[in-house]
Amino acid sequence: MRAILNEFDPAKQVLNRLASLYAQGHNTDKIDLIIIGGTWSYFPKKYKEWFIKKCFEAANQRTSKTLEQAQKLNEKSKHRIIGITIETRPDYITKREVLHLRDLGVTRVELGVQSIYEDVLKLNLRQSGTEDIVKATKLLKEAGFKVCYHMMPNLPGSDLKKDEEMFKTIFNDERFQPDLLKIYTCAVLKEAPLYKLWKEKKYKPYTEKQLIGLLIKIKRFVPYYCRIQRLTRDIPSQSIVAGPAKISNMRQVLKKQKGFACKCIRCREVRGDYRPKEKLYLFKQEYKASGGKEIFLSYENKTKTRLYSLLRLRVLNDAIIREVHTYGQLHPLNKSAVSPQHKGLGKKLVKEAEKIATKLGFKKIAVISGVGAREYYRRLGYRLKNTYMVKPLSSPLSAQSKE
Ligand SMILES: [Zn+2]
Repeated sequence: MRAILNEFDPAKQVLNRLASLYAQGHNTDKIDLIIIGGTWSYFPKKYKEWFIKKCFEAANQRTSKTLEQAQKLNEKSKHRIIGITIETRPDYITKREVLHLRDLGVTRVELGVQSIYEDVLKLNLRQSGTEDIVKATKLLKEAGFKVCYHMMPNLPGSDLKKDEEMFKTIFNDERFQPDLLKIYTCAVLKEAPLYKLWKEKKYKPYTEKQLIGLLIKIKRFVPYYCRIQRLTRDIPSQSIVAGPAKISNMRQVLKKQKGFACKCIRCREVRGDYRPKEKLYLFKQEYKASGGKEIFLSYENKTKTRLYSLLRLRVLNDAIIREVHTYGQLHPLNKSAVSPQHKGLGKKLVKEAEKIATKLGFKKIAVISGVGAREYYRRLGYRLKNTYMVKPLSSPLSAQSKE
C-alpha cells in the first residue's frame, strides 16, 4: 500500500516513512531499512543498485553520482542507515549474490523457507529444496548476515505432528538455526490453487484450538538467541476464505495462556520496561550452526526476563560479529538517571567478543556493519575492508605481557 501511494519510488517511500515516524515522536537518526515484498534477488542488478542508491539519497537528503558515494555520505549523515533487510528465496543465495548484497549494504536476509521437508516443498511447488535452505543459511552466516526464516505451518502434505517436529528440528539441527523467525500459517485464498483442494475436501486447515496448541509448543522450543518477529499474516483477514490464520492478534491470544512465557528475544527486550538502576549480568551461550560456532552474548537481568543488549559472534575460518543491538536506550537528556553499569553496553559486548576471538587465536575480528554504523566501529578501532569493519587483534601472549 505504501509503495502504491508513493508510485513505487524508493526515495519517496523512505522520505514519507521518515516524516511519519518523526511526526509520531520517533528518533530518526538511526534507520533500520527493511525492504519487503517479492524475491529481491530476482530483480535485475541495475534496478537493485538504483533502488538502494535512492534509499541512501533519501536518507542523505541529497543526490549522489554513484551508490558508493551515497553510502560514503551516509556514514556521517543525520539519518544513518544502520542495517538493510531484503527478502529472497534460498535457491537464489550463491557466493556471488552474497557479495552483491554486501556491496548494497544489506545486513539481514529473510529466507522464504516455509518447510524444511523435501516432500512438502515439492507438493507445494516450491523452487527451493532442503539442500538450498541448508546451503543458503551457511553462505549467509559465513558472510555475517543475520538470517530470518519465514515458516508456514499447515501446508498441504504436513500435519500437526510433522509441523511440531519441524520447529523442533530447526533449533536442534545445526544446519538451520535461524536468528529470527516469522511464522505465517497457511491460509486459503480464493485466487490460490489451494482453494480448489479445500473445496474438494483434500485440504483441511487446523482449527483455532489446534493452531494455538501448536504455536505454544513451537514457542517452547524457541531458544534464547532467536527472535520471533511475527506470528500472524500481514494480509487483511477478509481475503482469507478458510483457516485459523484469520486470527489477527495471535500474540495477545497466546499471552493469555496460563503458565507459559515465551523466552524469545522479542519477548525479553526491555522497551517500555527499562529500569535504569537494574543490576545486569553478562550471559554467554554457545551453539553449533552451519559447521561453525555461534557465541551469543547478552546483558540481562538475573532471571533473563529483561534483555538490555545482545551480540552474535560467529567463529569458523574467521571471527565475525553478526549483530550488536542495545534496547531501551533512554533519551540523551535522561542519561544521568542511568546507573553506570548501563552505559555503553554495546561497546562492552564488542570488547568481550574481541577477548573471546583473541583467546581462540584469531588475528583479526570483523563486523558486518550497516553503512551508517561504520563511524561507531571506527571509534572502537575498526577500519573498512571489503564492506566489513575489521580490527586487528593482538595475540594472547603479547596481551599478557602488556599486563
Ligand atoms: Zn517471544
